[in-house]
Amino acid sequence: MTSRKPATIAVRTGIESDTQYHAVVPPIYLSTNYGFPAFGEVPEYDYTRSGNPNRGLLEKALYELEGGQAAVITNCGTAALNLWVSAFLNPGELLLAPNDCYGGTYRLFHNRALKGDFKVKFVDFCDDAAVREAMALKPKLILLETPSNPLVRVVDIEKICQQAHATGAKVAVDNTFLSPVYQQPISLGADFVIHSTTKYINGHSDVLGGVIISKTAEDGETLGWWANCIGASGTPFDSYMTLRGIRTLGARMRSHEENSQKILDYLLSHKLAGTVYHPGLPTHPGHEIAKKQQKGFGSMLSFEFAGSYDQLKKFVSQLQLFSLAESLGGVESLICHPASMTHRAMDDEALKNAGISQQLLRLSVGLEDAGDLIADLDQAFTYAQEEN
Ligand SMILES: *Cc1c(COP(=O)(O)O)cnc(C)c1O
Repeated sequence: MTSRKPATIAVRTGIESDTQYHAVVPPIYLSTNYGFPAFGEVPEYDYTRSGNPNRGLLEKALYELEGGQAAVITNCGTAALNLWVSAFLNPGELLLAPNDCYGGTYRLFHNRALKGDFKVKFVDFCDDAAVREAMALKPKLILLETPSNPLVRVVDIEKICQQAHATGAKVAVDNTFLSPVYQQPISLGADFVIHSTTKYINGHSDVLGGVIISKTAEDGETLGWWANCIGASGTPFDSYMTLRGIRTLGARMRSHEENSQKILDYLLSHKLAGTVYHPGLPTHPGHEIAKKQQKGFGSMLSFEFAGSYDQLKKFVSQLQLFSLAESLGGVESLICHPASMTHRAMDDEALKNAGISQQLLRLSVGLEDAGDLIADLDQAFTYAQEEN
């Protein structure tokens, strides 16, 4: 039944698959090993590092949602990125990655390249000349991350994939910010999709996980072989929890977006919110590309605080319903000051290159009542401006 719609895939994968007790919800298989039916006869699952029923169901749900042929569940998003380069890059071969990619991704690629495992070049994929120059270096792999963190810059996936394939490179898209509900990179030409399932896919800020989905079964086999070889696999319990999160993914993504739309309208009207960054704004540089390649604009947004730095600190400390914390995509709203939190490993020069100012604040809009969230922002803006 390949024609099933995403909501059905998300809700039904694995339902009624238990043949022993006919449990409606698939049970958790915590056993690390499985009996061989007879001497010399290898069972479907033998040892959890190589395979497990819960991981298998989560893989199926995710590759079907992304329109791929195979998936490998890893213990975190970083492990999925590490698995990808381990499986496909040899010493001397070149990887292109975004100059404003997730900080942990930058650290991973930069440090593995320093050890000589492969070569890496960080590129601004919004700059056509820079992309042409980088493509001429004959990269083997290309990573895109769109929309990017924290400025939600949008890269044209279809265009980059065409250029990449013309030079023989394969492309992976880190789709963490939108999930398959709002963007399906494989349908735009990508060869792989990577997620930190820690974020929207699990959606409740209580599981660390990752996945890499491949367009072809053959690449999926290579990735599965390497996941077992280097020990990158996710655990049964985490897989169970993440599939539970996926059941409501569509409903959550739509509510997140509805709330963020109301918050955007409010921020655009407040004098302490300077430039607001969100792909849904007609003034956003990537708006037209986002309209073409995304099914929704997502609910990550950031803005320049237009008061003093002291007022910014007062504003953030006064918020009751936005927790000052890293990560994103959970049901609870979060606020982050990228320069001192998620991106603090960057020196001033790197922050400047990435366009991240000291006045920038990032919101992960949760599922609380939108009116309550706006009232909270409003009282904190007022407090920040008072003499106290
Ligand atoms: C969080 C994140 C990662 C890393 O995932 P972990 O699960 O924390 O290892 C990679 N890419 C993006 C865009 C992220 O937000």
